[in-house]
Amino acid sequence: MSLPLLMDLVKRSADYLVGHGIANGRREAEWIFSEGLNLTRLELYTRFDMPLDEEEVGRLRALVQRRGRREPLAYVLGNQEFCGLKLTVTPAVLVPRPETEELVERVLADAPEAVARLLDIGTGSGALALAFAHARPGWNVAATDVSPDALEVAKANASRLGLAVTFHRGDLASHLQGPFDLIVANLPYVGEDERDECDPELAFEPSVALFAGPDGMDCLRRLIADAGRLLVPRGRMWLEHGWRHRQALAAACAQHGLEACTIPDLAGKDRFTRVTKPDAA
Ligand code: GLN
Repeated sequence: MSLPLLMDLVKRSADYLVGHGIANGRREAEWIFSEGLNLTRLELYTRFDMPLDEEEVGRLRALVQRRGRREPLAYVLGNQEFCGLKLTVTPAVLVPRPETEELVERVLADAPEAVARLLDIGTGSGALALAFAHARPGWNVAATDVSPDALEVAKANASRLGLAVTFHRGDLASHLQGPFDLIVANLPYVGEDERDECDPELAFEPSVALFAGPDGMDCLRRLIADAGRLLVPRGRMWLEHGWRHRQALAAACAQHGLEACTIPDLAGKDRFTRVTKPDAA
């Protein structure tokens, strides 16, 4: 029996993925084949008439089937690009999202000249901390997470990328002294009441990184209550959050004497809030 050709398998896999509700089935199949065969996308295109042996077919089929079961593509590939950095991701960490890349751009555009100490709370794969360490080599970047497994992933990413980040383990920032000039946090913010509306992919990601109480505000509220202690006067904390959190965040900030300014993401949804600690009176 003749060996199957790469192009035929990519086509069949793409159809299979589309049949399993994945709109970008063709593109995702190509990513899976590139990664699985250790080829660049360009090499993949130039070798479409290459026959694949039984071992390769079995390995690739297993990857495509995982994606067909709606496991996030990043877990299937084992990595995700974030702000130009290739990060290893495992099911111990949330898959870094494009909207969080927007957060990086906004923080960089807004950061005062003299930022020295930045803290990333709930770092997961290390995405935010590593993006800032890469973009601003002069900054002193620290990161923290409650999950030891997530910290393993983040530390491995930092050392593979050769970026200097100091990692701590703990619940939000209760274990840290500060003060910090800048804090960034993509905490869990999905409400329990939204569980039923979530994409099937979210079931594969760590619940502790996604869900935060009935309205998704549990972690954000606790962090805001601690922000005054963690920030220098005029220090800023940038939060990523859900589209319906603006008012609750404004109220929590007002309660703790902090200023809040909410900004929509590129899709027009309220997504980021900049929290400023006023000058000492
Ligand atoms: N933006 C993510 C989602 O809705 C949630 C990420 C988070 O809770 N930090 O899929």
